[in-house]
Amino acid sequence: MRCDVVVIGAGPAGSLSAKTAAEKGLNVILLEKRQEIGDPVRCAEGVSKVGLAELVKPDPKWISAEVKGSRLIGPDGTSFVMAEDRSGNEVGYVLERKIFDRALALDAALAGAEVFVKTRALGLLMRDGKPYGVSAMRHGEMISIECPLIIGADGIESKVGRWAGIDTTLKPKDIGICAQFLLQDRNIDQDYSEFFFGNTIAPGGYAWSFPKGGNLANVGLGIQGSRSKPGEALRLLERFVASKYPSAKVAEVIVGGDPGCGPIESATANGVMLVGDAARQTDPITGGGILNGMTAGVIAGEVAAEALSAGDLSKDGLKAYEDRWREAIGVHIARSLELKEFFVKLTDDDLNRLMHSLKDQDISKMDLMGMLRVLVKLNPKLLWGLKHLIV
Ligand SMILES: Cc1cc2nc3c(=O)[nH]c(=O)nc-3n(C[C@H](O)[C@H](O)[C@H](O)COP(=O)(O)OP(=O)(O)OC[C@H]3O[C@@H](n4cnc5c(N)ncnc54)[C@H](O)[C@@H]3O)c2cc1C
Repeated sequence: MRCDVVVIGAGPAGSLSAKTAAEKGLNVILLEKRQEIGDPVRCAEGVSKVGLAELVKPDPKWISAEVKGSRLIGPDGTSFVMAEDRSGNEVGYVLERKIFDRALALDAALAGAEVFVKTRALGLLMRDGKPYGVSAMRHGEMISIECPLIIGADGIESKVGRWAGIDTTLKPKDIGICAQFLLQDRNIDQDYSEFFFGNTIAPGGYAWSFPKGGNLANVGLGIQGSRSKPGEALRLLERFVASKYPSAKVAEVIVGGDPGCGPIESATANGVMLVGDAARQTDPITGGGILNGMTAGVIAGEVAAEALSAGDLSKDGLKAYEDRWREAIGVHIARSLELKEFFVKLTDDDLNRLMHSLKDQDISKMDLMGMLRVLVKLNPKLLWGLKHLIV
């Protein structure tokens, strides 16, 4: 088998890469190890409406719920509401990713990409230190696909980076260990995505409730890997749910990880680009990665076409991908990392003090940076270390 580009992984980042490259006229094969794209889901499924609409036309078939905004809740219960369009990349729609991921892969197929499900990439075919294809197991049979370019979109557990010699190592402090229930309960607020902060609730992270319509919600939490031990996220989630929604029924349980290391040094190697969680393009503070991965996927698809037509698939020839993803999302990811590293050191008393300081402010129309500006102004001593981020 031969093609121009093999994309490994049919998550949002891989499908957008494959679709864009196919639309640019390339022969694309999209590999997905799972039998059913999008299943099982390891995500709270929140995305901003505007951000999503910039990348794909929203379809009611894959939207579970729309929210009015977000509610931020401090350790002692003090809370604030923010408008939906100011709440960042994870608030607006709550998706049904089983349907969403499949729809994106189908879009890639409609654009001309071949989609191989139940096909696990096993390694890169290498000649003189350069990749010339991918070996894979398809329906129990070994296959080889020759291609000059590979896009690694294989998620947090990515192997493509390692195969290509790209350093994607995550330190424990840079991994969010997550557990989530699909919860059924009448007391779930279906109008707002809720974020709960506090070191007792989720050390180095936060808990969330993202409504899914009816009486359902994705209720989960993520904790910093360096402050976790085996089974800890699930144990903390059980405790959180028992105190907040004591009569809730659990319909599904998932556990998963979120990369939160900030921009990696390089997301390219000769003949290889990494996108999405594989390139650690998740927002370190929220753990959101759907829109970032899709954005990077579009850029990778465009650069694939340009580099192939220029006949230069070396790391230097793929530099446009590095430059453009860093400009589009890398700056924001780097700032988020700085914020995360600062906020994870705060005590619950500090967090309560910050929440209380906002009590006379109208934050409903502020975005996160606007709120940070106000917080720094009101708490100059505590937040001195963040002053440079708000100028
Ligand atoms: C609990 C939790 C909650 C989250 N909530 C949100 C949220 O609300 N909003 C948000 O924006 N983000 C959220 N995220 C992050 C989000 O899920 C990811 O950032 C996003 O899925 C990344 O997309 P991706 O395409 O890079 O990777 P993935 O969606 O992980 O897709 C990678 C694909 O590659 C396939 N694959 C892997 N290896 C191979 C191989 N060798 N061969 C073939 N296929 C392979 C996998 O099966 C998978 O389908 C959450 C994450 C977790 C863990």
